[in-house]
Amino acid sequence: MQHPVCPSCKSDQVEAFFRIDNAPVYSLVTVSSKEEALAVPRKDIELGFCNHCGFVFNRLFDTSIDYFAMGYEDQQGFSKTFMQYLARISENLIKKYNLANKTLLEIGCGKGDFINLLNESAGGKGIGVDPAYVDGRLNNPNLTFYKELYSAKHGKLGADFICCRHTLEHIFHTEEFLINIRDSLVSEKKPVVFLEVPQISQILKTHAFWDIYYEHCSYFSAGSLGRLFRRTGYEVLDMKLDYSDLYLLVEAVPSDAPPEDKFVIEKAVQEEKENVLKFRESISVQLEEWRTRLKKMKDTAEKVVIWGGGSKSVGFLTSFADLELIEYVVDINPNMENNFIPGIGSQYVQPQFLHEYRPDTVIIMNGVYKEEITKTINGMGLDPFIYAL
Ligand SMILES: [Zn+2]
Repeated sequence: MQHPVCPSCKSDQVEAFFRIDNAPVYSLVTVSSKEEALAVPRKDIELGFCNHCGFVFNRLFDTSIDYFAMGYEDQQGFSKTFMQYLARISENLIKKYNLANKTLLEIGCGKGDFINLLNESAGGKGIGVDPAYVDGRLNNPNLTFYKELYSAKHGKLGADFICCRHTLEHIFHTEEFLINIRDSLVSEKKPVVFLEVPQISQILKTHAFWDIYYEHCSYFSAGSLGRLFRRTGYEVLDMKLDYSDLYLLVEAVPSDAPPEDKFVIEKAVQEEKENVLKFRESISVQLEEWRTRLKKMKDTAEKVVIWGGGSKSVGFLTSFADLELIEYVVDINPNMENNFIPGIGSQYVQPQFLHEYRPDTVIIMNGVYKEEITKTINGMGLDPFIYAL
């Protein structure tokens, strides 16, 4: 099924610009055998660009998939670099919005790591809402979790601050989602809403095809997200890029008459379109370069591993699974160990596995972690060739 209009602004001025056939529909589910991994359903991705609001989305996204029916493994808090980032943004938010001893609510809290971090620094109460929440990984009496989707009832919990990290890109009906949050906030006191998503402009500029996968149906630029917030009745208080420009961070507050003032990072639709056209022109070259490189490794019987599981590895391997080159994917999340990559069939291993396996090449899925990972690899007495995406 093709969605005829932009889910963000309802315009029909949508143009397709990139396609990935047969992408696994799940990338973060836990599967414990190769057979089960290879049996994960596949569907096509066709990215469309909205000429009216600049939003990018998968025009073929199947909104009937239940992403919470299978185990969902999305914890990222095992990396020092990542934890430092989270600590920095949480400290900033606590200071900036005086969140000490307040009630903080997180939509799409996953296993609760971020709301726990906020609550440990700020005190007060923490509320997490997520159908994928799993009991028992945290032991903090100040936290309450709702294992369900966010709805009007959570707006009555009296939160002073709402955060929503890396959730909106999984939601197809983005406009309705922001309206639902705004309409749920019934009390006079309007909480600041903090939202963090991957930034599409960076994906397009760096031809990061590994950042395009089925679970992400919505792709935001500062411009398209700013426009969406204002259109759905929020004043945008701040907007910035972080984590090597991979992430887009927005702070907004419900408002009946949002001012139209823009932030420097918000570009006009036409400028975003130029980014899209450049990507369309050169992405096939980038994909072909990687195919040639990997094929050469295969021909010379190199042992190649990927470091960094999760969606990026699915996004990367989807294009080259036919080469059957990469058997193992390293991930420091101990809950992933011995699971298999959905749709691809490579096995998750812990870093110490490399000690024995002795890879010739390691492909790091996120360059942000290059230093941290290289140190670990060298610490094991290994010196493989390292590519960092
Ligand atoms: Zn649009």
